[in-house]
Amino acid sequence: MKLDLDRIPHGRSELELSGVLALEWGADRPAAAFVEGTLVVDNLEGRVLAEGEVHAHGEAVCTRCLGNFDLAWPVKVSCMVLRDTASDEGRDDSMVISQRGGEVDLREVLRESAILAFPLTVSCGPECRGLCAGCGRNLNEEACVCEAENHDPRWDALP
Ligand SMILES: [Zn+2]
Ligand SMILES: [Zn+2]
Repeated sequence: MKLDLDRIPHGRSELELSGVLALEWGADRPAAAFVEGTLVVDNLEGRVLAEGEVHAHGEAVCTRCLGNFDLAWPVKVSCMVLRDTASDEGRDDSMVISQRGGEVDLREVLRESAILAFPLTVSCGPECRGLCAGCGRNLNEEACVCEAENHDPRWDALP
């Protein structure tokens, strides 16, 4: 999850990413994500642009049934490393890091990108039936008991 400025070739190359990223940004959100993918790196003397889409997955909480499940989501990454601090060629849609040489740690860029790309609502699957608003039972696992609880015993006397 690092970009070594002293070793990347001039022009275009690829950077493979694979690793576990700590996210830690809320109780119902994945605490960590496994990130995997390839960024295209353009090394242009004073600046290096690393862009691409990587895949993240981690344990999320379903907003319908509140169950835990493994969620995969795509993460767009665009990161500009300025080696010449006098340069102001950062692009509006990229995260900018100023560093002259050595290894650039991409973890913070990846963390922010993964959080930005996280879907607003997540469900464990299209089949998820969620929790009953009345009795609170998880309808994926058990039957609703609202009807039984509201059962009026007077009807039992009828034939
Ligand atoms: Zn669910
Ligand atoms: Zn119910």
